Amino acid sequence: MIVYVCNSCGKGYFEPRGICKCGSDSFREEERETKRLHCVKLLVPPAGFPEQVEFCLSSAGDTRVLELGGSRE
Ligand SMILES: [Zn+2]
Repeated sequence: MIVYVCNSCGKGYFEPRGICKCGSDSFREEERETKRLHCVKLLVPPAGFPEQVEFCLSSAGDTRVLELGGSRE
């Protein structure tokens, strides 16, 4: 997964940001390995989603993100 890392303070983001919390607007893209921490399966998904939806809290280094686990069969 690609993360956007601030060139100034090194903080990672999962979405492109205009400006980092530290005030810098200079980012680089880095490929990071993500680790899934917690996954929750929704048995009654919201409209428009496949039958079963899985949300996972993942981490890449010090950055955390909610990922859509999806139904992989
Ligand atoms: Zn920064």
